[in-house]
Amino acid sequence: MADHYDVLGVDRSATPEEIKKAYRRLARELHPDVNPSPEASERFKDVTHAYDVLSDPQQRERYDLGPQAGFGGGGGAAGFGDIFDAFFGGGGGGGQRQGPRSRRERGQDALLRLEVDLEEIVFGTQRDIEVDTAVLCETCSGSCCAPGTSPQTCDICHGSGQIQRQVRSLLGNVMTSSPCGTCRGYGTVIPNPCPTCQGQGRVRARRTIPIDIPAGVDTGLRLQLPGQGEVGQAGGPNGDLYLEVKVRHHETYSRNGDDLLATLEVQMSDAILGTETTLDGLDGAVEIELKPGTQSGDVLTVRDRGVTKLRGTGRGDLKIGVQVVTPTKLSHKERELIEKFAAGRREQAPELSQFQQGLFGKLRDRFLNF
Ligand SMILES: [Zn+2]
Ligand SMILES: [Zn+2]
Repeated sequence: MADHYDVLGVDRSATPEEIKKAYRRLARELHPDVNPSPEASERFKDVTHAYDVLSDPQQRERYDLGPQAGFGGGGGAAGFGDIFDAFFGGGGGGGQRQGPRSRRERGQDALLRLEVDLEEIVFGTQRDIEVDTAVLCETCSGSCCAPGTSPQTCDICHGSGQIQRQVRSLLGNVMTSSPCGTCRGYGTVIPNPCPTCQGQGRVRARRTIPIDIPAGVDTGLRLQLPGQGEVGQAGGPNGDLYLEVKVRHHETYSRNGDDLLATLEVQMSDAILGTETTLDGLDGAVEIELKPGTQSGDVLTVRDRGVTKLRGTGRGDLKIGVQVVTPTKLSHKERELIEKFAAGRREQAPELSQFQQGLFGKLRDRFLNF
């Protein structure tokens, strides 16, 4: 065994004060809470033993006399860990008691993706969704105990959930407390756990939840459903459920804020002469009137036929961009008529002007400037 003075790194003539100082310095370096390596742990034991011997005047005297004197006889190395609880902030002031912790815990929040159709958000809708979650165990109603049994006060900590120890240290006698390992700090143990939930107070299940999808929600919006997340352990309160909205792509309509946008293909003759027609809106028929001389890129606005506003009142508009279709196949008779028409009008020759973005660019500009 190494020499106790060497272990502490002090002279044989060191004063008790010097020995104490050396010990504290080494302890701060080697204590298992600070340095978890096995070598440090071994050295720490040696250091502590050396200190126990050298800090006690009688033991130190016997040690200095040599092995024959029978050093190490009387209870030196007991509880080196306890001393260090005091050093490294176990109890501090001594005796402050925290109560046992509750077995009941709040359930976790959950986040689900919710896909909705554009039709559904024009006015909002109701729907049932299915969620895999944790629900209260019906066998034990969250008590975690088998029917007819109940939790029992922990024998080890007597219900406090804490183990307290008084330890002797360099700083005097102090109380340290730590969570009881037997009951994990709950203060009670469950001798007969509920067989249905294995003592958790909750089981996994699929739940059906009716939800209201408000009008006007858009992709990326999160709906919060308080208390619709999983139930907590041991009947603790539910977490919340969040639904992240994704609006599905629609074949005809797209959305710009609260407005709905679509393109209407109009035959050349209808564009020239004007016409009335009925369109399929997302919420029923929409009557529109094309004026004579309608151009590609014209936008017809139907007020209040867009999406119901999420905030505020009323609805956005339905905006219909016109695309005039030039016929590509003409009958012999049609061709004659068009030729006659052209001859009678002395049409201007095609003429260059400023480059414009394509029709869709033009439509987009008009939508935005409307
Ligand atoms: Zn149960
Ligand atoms: Zn306990």
